[in-house]
Amino acid sequence: MSTLEQSRYLATAIPGPKSSALIERKTTAVARGIGNTMAVYAARAGGGIVEDVDGNRLIDLGSGIAVTTVGNASPRVVEAVAAQAAEFTHTCFMVTPYEGYVAVCEHLNRLTPVAGDTRSALFNSGSEAVENAVKIARAYTRKQAVVSFDHAYHGRTNLTMALTAKSMPYKHGFGPFAPEIYRAPLSYPFRDAEFGGKELATDGELAARRAISVIDKQVGADNLAAIIIEPIQGEGGFIVPAEGFLPALLEWCRGNGVVFIADEVQTGFARTGAMFACEHEGVDPDLIVTAKGIADGLPLSAVTGRAEIMDSPHVGGLGGTYGGNPIACAAALATIETIEADGMVERAQAIERLMKARLGRMQADDERIGEVRGRGAMIAVELVKPGTLEPDAELTKKLCAGAHAAGVIVLSCGTYGNVLRFLPPLAISDELLEEGLDVLALVLADL
Ligand SMILES: *Cc1c(COP(=O)(O)O)cnc(C)c1O
Repeated sequence: MSTLEQSRYLATAIPGPKSSALIERKTTAVARGIGNTMAVYAARAGGGIVEDVDGNRLIDLGSGIAVTTVGNASPRVVEAVAAQAAEFTHTCFMVTPYEGYVAVCEHLNRLTPVAGDTRSALFNSGSEAVENAVKIARAYTRKQAVVSFDHAYHGRTNLTMALTAKSMPYKHGFGPFAPEIYRAPLSYPFRDAEFGGKELATDGELAARRAISVIDKQVGADNLAAIIIEPIQGEGGFIVPAEGFLPALLEWCRGNGVVFIADEVQTGFARTGAMFACEHEGVDPDLIVTAKGIADGLPLSAVTGRAEIMDSPHVGGLGGTYGGNPIACAAALATIETIEADGMVERAQAIERLMKARLGRMQADDERIGEVRGRGAMIAVELVKPGTLEPDAELTKKLCAGAHAAGVIVLSCGTYGNVLRFLPPLAISDELLEEGLDVLALVLADL
């Protein structure tokens, strides 16, 4: 059990002297392209706290980007990782397989909302799993085109850069990108209201018809292997599509021989108040991609899907040296056990109630908060110029900086850089969560 004291505490200014020295070393040792959100270096983390090398204790509202969902260095995970590392660290599942890999796949097949007989395959990163989902969909359909959506984020490898929407910073200067990728309009209720009227903002089926019309005319189902979508967009701005959007897309895919891929890398594993976000709308994807919250920070990702699709690539066609590493698998098994034994899905629902109530009160007094949205412990506020829908990225930047200086880790996101997002670990206490939001309210009031 982590002995880290669960309170915010500033021993030095942020960054303190030890972090400052490390920032200097980083500048001369690490490639500039790798940026840092926070100006502090971590020493320990657990519960709702990250402690830095100067002894500052920060409230964690980011979970290392939705990864340490069950809590950093969660006790069952620590024990399982140590035990597995002492037995063997790697054999390569493609050479000398081991039970942990199979057990993780069994759990994924049981837990994911894919209908019928299912299979899984394990990889290292979210991007790698997305790439493999596309490979599998192409092998199954013998078609090539893939559709992703406005504001989408699917990773930083070549194929996933092509699937990702935003140029700066993810794609700028890194082309050419993989061919046969097409983009369709999303359902973005807060902004659809402005351009498409109130009906488009609230009627998910109408928004789906708009997307399907673009797909039909610009790609054509005969050429289309798959559509890939985040059921709630992550980096794009925590965008929850209007009700009915996802089911209508799924229905069109089913009727047209197109594989429906849900990218649940950020939304999976209890994060949204369901084990997977597709469940909120009763959507059973053909393939589901998972990573981030799967193994409490050890690198692991997966593709799970209908058996006939998953089994379509030839033997030896999928794999990788490290995919499903035994230590990462042990961490995943302990993470899944923790989610189920500790009622983490319900915990995420309680966090949603607390955060939406608090942020809703803030919004009522502040015209700069255009919208509070999200599900479970994946909640965001979209910041705008008062009385308009004009994004306020400058305010967002200042608000993040103020929170960081006060000892609260928050992240921004969104195509327009104007969304403040909260991804607290589910192991955080209500007290720390409320304190984090209090700090934020104070910083915002001062700006
Ligand atoms: C983070 C993320 C990815 C990429 O995962 P990596 O592990 O960083 O490669 C893909 N899709 C979504 C929705 C993500 O949030």
